[in-house]
Amino acid sequence: MQRTQFYEKVRDRLIRYAKIDTQSDPNSTSVPTTAKQFDLARVLRDELLSIGAEGVWLDEDRCVVYGMLPSTMPGKSGMPVGFVTHMDTAPDAPGAGVKPWVLEDYDGKDIVLNAEKNIVMRTADFPNLSGYTGQDLILTDGTTLLGGDDKAAIAAVMTMAEYYLAHPEIPHGPISLAFTPDEEVGGLARDLDLERFGAKVAYTLDGDYLGYYEDETFNASHTKLTIHGRSVHTGTAKGIMINASDIAGEFLSMLPPLEKPQFTEGREGFYHVISVRSSCEHAEVELIVRDHDAGLFRKREEYLRACAKALRDKYGTDAAELVITETYRNMKEVIDRYPFLIDHLTAAIRMSGLEPKALAFRGGTDGSALSHRGLPCPNLSAGYENAHGRFEYVPIRSMEKNVEILLNLCSLFAKM
Ligand SMILES: [Zn+2]
Repeated sequence: MQRTQFYEKVRDRLIRYAKIDTQSDPNSTSVPTTAKQFDLARVLRDELLSIGAEGVWLDEDRCVVYGMLPSTMPGKSGMPVGFVTHMDTAPDAPGAGVKPWVLEDYDGKDIVLNAEKNIVMRTADFPNLSGYTGQDLILTDGTTLLGGDDKAAIAAVMTMAEYYLAHPEIPHGPISLAFTPDEEVGGLARDLDLERFGAKVAYTLDGDYLGYYEDETFNASHTKLTIHGRSVHTGTAKGIMINASDIAGEFLSMLPPLEKPQFTEGREGFYHVISVRSSCEHAEVELIVRDHDAGLFRKREEYLRACAKALRDKYGTDAAELVITETYRNMKEVIDRYPFLIDHLTAAIRMSGLEPKALAFRGGTDGSALSHRGLPCPNLSAGYENAHGRFEYVPIRSMEKNVEILLNLCSLFAKM
């Protein structure tokens, strides 16, 4: 496979970043959820300084790294654009002691990740592998995740920045960069300071499959139903006891049986019970609701409210309390107001020789929240595979291609 001038840059960067443990922690309430995310944040800050970026700043309280490439055009013109990538790795697999290695010219067969422990990545289990025959892959030793999610994206963004700063003769407008913590634990880039960031539109780079992009995510909420029962001795309970466990079961039976994650796909929404804790006296049911369509999403929430009301009508006014909290909203209603965001992105992907493909993402991204905070922010895939697990890998060509896509994208914004 032909290597571009970016090959060694992205390869060495991902390997360097992957070795730094930045796993976030869903059970932590500190900011960031793990202090070790600063280990990468400092490396990125120093790297931005060494390649000559401006406005370089690490928020020592919130662990967000900022940097900026000024316009190279007459009168500092060109439309400002930003890129947001996340530094943390998922809590789903071990994230410490990552030992990335490169397999050159992959032959399309099963890959022995770890001979000593007999850990093999089989093409039968991971059919996507066959698409990378002849390419160079960055792999794990089978005992940890790789962290290509999202460090493959950081490697591409940093390489783009370095290239531009080394070539001030190439025209581009102002480019804002931010590296954020805690994406994997629902951080939603909450601590990104939009004023400091500067650009009024941006892209995240996250997700697998090179050439894919997302301009649509779920609407998402969290619901907690608290049920108050009345416990008395079972021997004398007749006509007096109200069993909260039974009411919790009754509530569960009201949920549409086929509108669950395990029975839905594409743009179909769902209810998903994440926990039930119950006794006779007290029960709590927690569930999440997801739907791409804002109208259907509201209907689902209304349905839950109607269920709680039915239980109150039956068991008493204080028998069931429902609290619904919004988690994030579909970015599409915002993105659709800025059609150039997707026009430029698809054009940039095509200029790189790839066919752009859109996904209605069955989840949320930092961009879902950022879009509704006023920074319209679709997502471009980072190009990793099998994220959040020990079989994660990154084809080096995918990162090289992403550098090209970013350069093409910035060249289009320069003309605005
Ligand atoms: Zn990610």
